[in-house]
Amino acid sequence: MKFTQTQQQRIIELDLTGEYVPEAKEREFTSVEKREEFFQKVEQKLIAINQERLMDFVKQRGRSSLRRTETSLVELLNQLDFTEVTTPIKLAQGHLKKMGIEQEDPLWKQVYWIDEGKYCLRPMLAPNLYYLLGYFANSLDKPIRIFEIGPCFRKESKGSKHLSEFTMLNLVELGPTTEDLTARLESLIEQIMSLLELDYELEEEESTVYNKTIDVLVDGVEVGSAAIGPHTLDRAWNISDPWVGVGFGVERLVMCKEEFNNIKRIGRSLIYQDGARLNI
Ligand code: ATP
Ligand code: MG
Repeated sequence: MKFTQTQQQRIIELDLTGEYVPEAKEREFTSVEKREEFFQKVEQKLIAINQERLMDFVKQRGRSSLRRTETSLVELLNQLDFTEVTTPIKLAQGHLKKMGIEQEDPLWKQVYWIDEGKYCLRPMLAPNLYYLLGYFANSLDKPIRIFEIGPCFRKESKGSKHLSEFTMLNLVELGPTTEDLTARLESLIEQIMSLLELDYELEEEESTVYNKTIDVLVDGVEVGSAAIGPHTLDRAWNISDPWVGVGFGVERLVMCKEEFNNIKRIGRSLIYQDGARLNI
């Protein structure tokens, strides 16, 4: 006999890195007593690991991995001459439409609408960055380098890699000094990924006739998506220069870095803090 569904679920919830998950699913027992005895041993061990991490977080660390990662990303980008901008979480419907996202788009259905649909909780940072870039492009010399790091919201069907509230880091450079935009983009991605000491692969995908998107993958998990302009959307935002940009999910980066089995450990939560499950 195997662990019961409830026992399997409990092990998965408590197991930070997924080390015990295959055992939870596969292990066979010859009697109920043996199974219960083994389950209790595993459960106690995992509770202790979670407690230890939680105590360490509350007593010693002062900040979660997520917040620390955000800080080190901000510091790196400042060193690379990117300026951190701060824009509203509440996004006008018109600005989402200006991104080419309309009712029939799958992303539209993932949006949390507020104020009778006039606004939404931003599902991405790109519209606000586009807006500011269009403004700065009129008055400042290029290159113009800005980024934002902050909450984004998407209705997601359940899964271990999606949160309904997550933290996006989006950077954009307008008018890079080199003509080789791909090289510039790849160099920015490389600097971020090497700061985090994460091995990654780039996967190119054609999106429209003149554009491609480049996904950043860690062990097959998408941690970021990048793009190069000019893009057909640019005109609507008063942009005419070339640009490179990339958006990372910060919880995805931390999840890969810490080898956690579920992104929920990292996100805003009352069940987990800094990866550890509260004993509830
Ligand atoms: P996915 O295909 O994994 O759902 P996406 O391609 O829709 O992601 P993008 O719009 O490219 O996501 O957003 C940029 C990055 O933001 C993603 O590469 C991912 O790291 C992160 N991200 C997107 N949606 C979520 C989510 N619901 N929870 C956590 N991170 C997310
Ligand atoms: Mg993507």
